[in-house]
Amino acid sequence: MKHDFDCDLLVVGLGPVGDALAALATIQGLKVIAIDRSSTIFPLPRAAVFDHEIMRIFQAIGVAERIAPLCRIPDRYQFLTADRQVLLDFPVAPVGAFGWAETYALHQPAVEQVLRDRLTELDVQVELGVAFERMAQDEAGVTVDVTAGAEPRQIRARYVVGCDGSWSPVREALGIKLDDYNFDEPWLVLDTIIEEPGDLPIVCQQLCDPERPVTHMAMSGKRFRWEFMLKPGESPEEMLDDARIRALLEPWDCVERIAIERKAVYRFHALVAEKWRVGRILIAGDAAHQMPPFAGQGMCSGIRDAANLAWKLGAVIRAEADEAILDTYQQEREPHVRAIIATAIAMGQIVCLLDPAAAEGRNQAMLARKASGAQDVSVAYPDLVDGFLTRTPHAGALFPQPRAADGELLDAVCGNGPVLVTRSDAQVRDRSVRAISLDAPEIAKFAAPLGQWLAAAAADAVLIRPDRHVFGTGNPDELQDAWRAMAGKTAVG
Ligand SMILES: Cc1cc2nc3c(=O)[nH]c(=O)nc-3n(C[C@H](O)[C@H](O)[C@H](O)COP(=O)(O)OP(=O)(O)OC[C@H]3O[C@@H](n4cnc5c(N)ncnc54)[C@H](O)[C@@H]3O)c2cc1C
Repeated sequence: MKHDFDCDLLVVGLGPVGDALAALATIQGLKVIAIDRSSTIFPLPRAAVFDHEIMRIFQAIGVAERIAPLCRIPDRYQFLTADRQVLLDFPVAPVGAFGWAETYALHQPAVEQVLRDRLTELDVQVELGVAFERMAQDEAGVTVDVTAGAEPRQIRARYVVGCDGSWSPVREALGIKLDDYNFDEPWLVLDTIIEEPGDLPIVCQQLCDPERPVTHMAMSGKRFRWEFMLKPGESPEEMLDDARIRALLEPWDCVERIAIERKAVYRFHALVAEKWRVGRILIAGDAAHQMPPFAGQGMCSGIRDAANLAWKLGAVIRAEADEAILDTYQQEREPHVRAIIATAIAMGQIVCLLDPAAAEGRNQAMLARKASGAQDVSVAYPDLVDGFLTRTPHAGALFPQPRAADGELLDAVCGNGPVLVTRSDAQVRDRSVRAISLDAPEIAKFAAPLGQWLAAAAADAVLIRPDRHVFGTGNPDELQDAWRAMAGKTAVG
């Protein structure tokens, strides 16, 4: 057994999730090697939107200010009948509770490029054109066989995370099965560039037309996305034909102005891996779960995985937590992702109706609901319910991020570790936790909203995890003791 390690963490696969994990783990102080078998960023059309929780994670990585100008903030997300009556209407708040707009429309490869550039700045050892082949783990680490071209070699890592996408060779090597929700719908996805958009609507819309369900979305810049559901008997080949695509676009009266950038036929489905950790090997992102895109949450869920895992790996490598903390990764993330999959499937079931009678029944029921005054609010993502959390009020919720008058955001002063915000000075009982009292100068500009939050929670303190979920509220000493006990370490700072 080889005990000298090439890295603390080997990230296999550099899509958005691998990029985010490699960056966040490096920020946590880990030595990271990140490999991808491809030497270029994945070119096909995929994510069209992400939410404010994810922009906050991009902020932690140090790229939010670079990504924001690449994105468009849509003003709403609507589900419409064939004759354009509104079935569902989700307005998008330009500033949400976490310091950023609730939704951003993106061009996924452009965002991935920013993340890759950040890995270079952070000195992550990125190796492109290097493919994972197989691995063997022992009690100290994992030995991974990779190939670069024809050249085989080994990388020795303390931990390996497979962020290697839906087909995940890492997941396959572990023999992990997938739980299939049996949602399976084929769609043509089309990204276009339109130099002169004219009066094309700047919207995020689902047209719930049983003749042909369609998604239409103004993405960032001059990019517009259309997604067309395939009807029974239609083949991917015929739908990818340019003449067919132009016929499908006729109703938008823009065919002459359009340049087709990327096109692909996907089967939208929902799958969750049964196990996300086997010893020192874990999986994240599409390797661990996949969902239909109707809630715009596949990539977002994977980036949440990265944020959940990075600080836990950091705590284990720094000997601030027992390895058992890694079991809380799936414990916390799986119910969260399953709740979002349920939303995405429910949205998909509204959209993907081809039977005119069923569509009419849906319209009548949903329009009656709207007529009764029901309001749709932006999709709220669930709290964590179990895991590395206390059983105190607000535990598991994502802590809000106020923005100060000068534009500074709370997380910028909190650092990368756990933070205990207290009404008055607290004794530090765990050296891994940073305590900040409301009268500390560094937090003065946030003292009012933080004081209001603590007052509303009727708590003297809140302990916030590095991924900004609330660990617990209450007495500062008890919170630190609970943290230490749960981390499994007894050292007092
Ligand atoms: C049509 C469509 C629309 C979508 N819309 C949205 C949306 O609006 N919002 C949203 O959040 N999500 C959306 N998604 C989902 C989102 O695109 C994916 O969830 C996301 O790209 C997954 O990221 P990932 O990093 O887990 O995997 P991937 O991006 O697939 O990356 C996996 C990486 O692993 C590498 N790899 C594979 N095998 C190996 C190996 N053996 N060795 C080394 N490297 C390897 C690959 O080269 C690849 O770079 C959409 C998806 C589709 C298809």
